[in-house]
Amino acid sequence: MSRHEEVAAGLASVRGRIEKACAAARRDAEEVTLVVVTKFFPASDVRLLADLGVVHVGENRHQEAAAKAGECADLPLVWHFIGGLQSNKAAAVASYSQVVESVDRRKLLAPLSHGAHQADREVEVLLQVSLDPPDRAGRAGADPADVAGLAAAVEEAEGLALRGLMAVAPLGEDPATAFARLADVRRELLADHPHADWLSAGMSGDLEEAIHAGATHVRVGSAVLGSRAPVQ
Ligand SMILES: *Cc1c(COP(=O)(O)O)cnc(C)c1O
Repeated sequence: MSRHEEVAAGLASVRGRIEKACAAARRDAEEVTLVVVTKFFPASDVRLLADLGVVHVGENRHQEAAAKAGECADLPLVWHFIGGLQSNKAAAVASYSQVVESVDRRKLLAPLSHGAHQADREVEVLLQVSLDPPDRAGRAGADPADVAGLAAAVEEAEGLALRGLMAVAPLGEDPATAFARLADVRRELLADHPHADWLSAGMSGDLEEAIHAGATHVRVGSAVLGSRAPVQ
């Protein structure tokens, strides 16, 4: 099998899973955007994906993302940044990412705003919510209790558009339970910010549960592209 056939098969399988999950949840499959996570895979794979009709791609490390976005600048792609953000890199991330999904603290807003201004466009922002217990080591994302304050701060930031929430299901918990909690956080956000209706949740292993809980964006890597080198 050529790499093209391999990627096409992975993509077809994931698109099929999304359609099935939408049917089961009585949702329109058009409501769910597939973001293919291309971290650890080469720019040539990104090109194949674009060829196969993929528009949204996700990356989680600034250096790798910047290089790939540069190599693929001729393609009509929307880059989503989904990884941990350092405030000293945030402006640079905003220069190639149309969507930054991993905003979890106020300190990131000024540099993101600055990056949006320099790139002369609006950056779409998702607030990453932590679904982990508060004491979990390496916890990524804002505490659910901090979401309202953070959302208000994004609304005030120049060049940033609040679009919704992002989360990763914790290890060792049924993703359906975790995503049900996320849906509650989202309901509260929507009460104050009705336009912030994106929900990025669900990966290769749990996209069905996420779609059931209302995900509008699923971030899928290995189920499309194959397994990554075991570093991460
Ligand atoms: C790597 C990654 C994904 C994709 O994970 P897969 O299990 O390969 O589908 C999704 N979201 C985030 C935040 C990631 O870092």
